[in-house]
Parts: sequence; structure tokens; C-alpha cells
Amino acid sequence: MGYRFGIKSLLFFAISLAAAASPYQPLGREAYLTSSFGESRGTRYHAGIDFSTDKEEGWPVIAPSNGVVEFASRGAFGYGRHIKFKAKDEHIWVFAHLAEFNRKIDTLIRKEMLKKEKPNVQLFLKIPFKKGDTLAYSGSTGIGNPHLHVEYRTPGGKVALNPCQKMKCTDTIAPSILEAAPFDSGFAVKIVDYSREPLENPMSIYSLDIYQNKELLFSKKYDSLSFDPKEMAKIKDDLLDAEDIDTVSDWHFINAEIKANSKILAVAKDFANNVSKTELKLKPGVLKLVAKDTIKTFLDTVLPSLGAVYSKMDFAGKPQCRIPVLNTLSGLDFNSIDVRDKDNKWIIFDYDSDPKELVVERRDFDFSEPLNVKLCDKAGNCVERELSCDN
Ligand SMILES: [Zn+2]
Repeated sequence: MGYRFGIKSLLFFAISLAAAASPYQPLGREAYLTSSFGESRGTRYHAGIDFSTDKEEGWPVIAPSNGVVEFASRGAFGYGRHIKFKAKDEHIWVFAHLAEFNRKIDTLIRKEMLKKEKPNVQLFLKIPFKKGDTLAYSGSTGIGNPHLHVEYRTPGGKVALNPCQKMKCTDTIAPSILEAAPFDSGFAVKIVDYSREPLENPMSIYSLDIYQNKELLFSKKYDSLSFDPKEMAKIKDDLLDAEDIDTVSDWHFINAEIKANSKILAVAKDFANNVSKTELKLKPGVLKLVAKDTIKTFLDTVLPSLGAVYSKMDFAGKPQCRIPVLNTLSGLDFNSIDVRDKDNKWIIFDYDSDPKELVVERRDFDFSEPLNVKLCDKAGNCVERELSCDN
């Protein structure tokens, strides 16, 4: 009896250990990365990682530990709808481009929107959640292409850490060191890192070490990134803006002089520890920088206009009235979009950026009533229209 009990508890212990050791999956399921930490975004580094949601919306976003949602924001651009979750260990998790918040968060956000009569509101909160709870649902707000952006920040939130240290980030293909060229006071190395087949989403490497005659000459690692704008701006010196037919690779600048006839070795690693080693031969002429953009200004005299209204179900089966926005040369002035009912009451709406559409839900508005929409572009051209969602 005692023996059987012993085996059972041992088994139970082993199973609990396995469960405890299973890595955190923000979407609660296996998902692949479409962007890695430290990728170039032109004027800044990508401070998190992106998970594909297979072009779908509404995948549950799972709490990594016990903690509190301390901030929620509903905006049309950038992060779109996003939350900040303060974990038990004080680290901050950011989940962005959400389609929807957990109901507890959503209730407070909607109240704030109606109070302010604004679609883009922010709230500081203190809503507790347990590890494994659903915090929100993935979407495409602010960006247009459904995926989950995940950030993992130090306590206080000023420094972004590589989230791959807290979860499984699969990368089965080692970086390719393509070529090298003299540049300025040093040289540059062209590298591309794919993580999976098909070769669609090139990633940032995790580390680059350069050896001169077996001595370490240069070393960098993408472990953390400061949100300080001055630090972020260093990307201009770090990754060169090269004019390449192959635009997916990065030219890493190495500000170090090379002695004549020395042997230069580059060692590049990705975030799954796949390594590539290549002896560099600097080829003058293969690196051409992009000419600096001349500032373009153009006049916008075309009024924004609205396309044919149609209805559709969202991921949860809730009916939506969708209003296409057309002809906005200078872009929408989001703060001046106004959606009201026949009694001039402000109506909660959403803005989808790809395609550009205003979205009104039936829980916020009776589709059988007329809807007044006013929108302006950034040049101040406005259009006002009475619409019907009842079709
Ligand atoms: Zn992202």
C-alpha cells in the first residue's frame, strides 16, 4: 500500500515538475515569430517580439504570472489597443495590437471613452489577474496586420529586455554572413537571419563578435534596449541604410580599424544559439548608402470621403457596422473623427488601418437608426455624412 502510494506521489511530483517547467506561451499555444527583438524599424529598434496569429484575430493573450494590469490604452496608431501587465516580480509585460481587452478592463475603458467623447483613451488601473488568465484578445489595431507584439521590460519599464529569455522562441536557421565592405573609419558586415521555412521574415541576429588574428575586436549582443530616444537613435550608426537589391539583410557597422594582412573572423549567433562563422574579405564598392530623403511636402485639397457601408461579424460573432474611409491624401486627423447618433450623442467607434474603416458595434449603437459621421484629414479638409448601418 505504502509502496503504491509512493509511486503515485512520485509520478504526481514528476508531472507537476513538467508542468512547472513548460515555457510560457503568450498566446497559450505554439505560435511562430514574425519579428525578433532588436530588428531595425528605420529610426528605432523593435523593442519586442511579434507572434503570428495566422491572419486571425481574437486569440486569447495569457498572463505570464500572477500580477496586475496597470495600464490600458485604446489608440488607432502605433501600439493600437495595448496593456501593461506588472508581473509578480515587478517586470512589465506589454501586449499590443489587441482586438479586445478582458471584460473587466473593457468596461472601464468604455466608460472613459464615453466620458471624454474620444476614441483614444488611456487608463492607469490596478486589476489583479492570476497566471494563465486571459488578459485580452489578439488583433491588428494600430497596424493592420494581425499579430501579437510582446515586450518584456525591467521594473519601472525604462529598459526593454529580450522576451525570448522568458519563453521559447524557435529559430532553426543560422544567420548568413553575406559580405563585408570598408566603411568610414571601419567596415560593415552584411548579415541576414531567417528563423524558419519559408524564408519570409528576416530577423535580427542575437550577437555579433569580430576577431582580428584571433583577438576579440568587436562584440555586441541584443539583450536589452533603452527607450531613451538618444539611445534608440544610435541605430543610425549601428545599422547602415544601404541601397540594396536585397533589402532584407542588415549592414552592421564595426567602428574599428583593421591592420593590414590580418585575418578577420565574424561570428554571428541568433536567439536560438545557431552560430555562423565566416572569414571576412572586405570588398570596396559593394556597400552603397541610400541618399538622404529630400523633404516632400504636397498639397491636399481632396476631401476625405466615405465608401459603401457594410456589416460583418467580429471574431466573437458580434455584429459590426463598417464604414470605409477613402481619399485621405494627408491621412486622417484621428482626433477629429466624430461619430454621433440622431440626438447628437457620441458613439464609441474603432478605426481599422488596413483597410481604412470606421467600425461601430451593435452593442454601442442601434443599427436601425441613422448615424452621423464627421471626419477630417490632416490638411483640415472635412466631410460630414448621415449614414445607415441597416443593410
Ligand atoms: Zn512588434
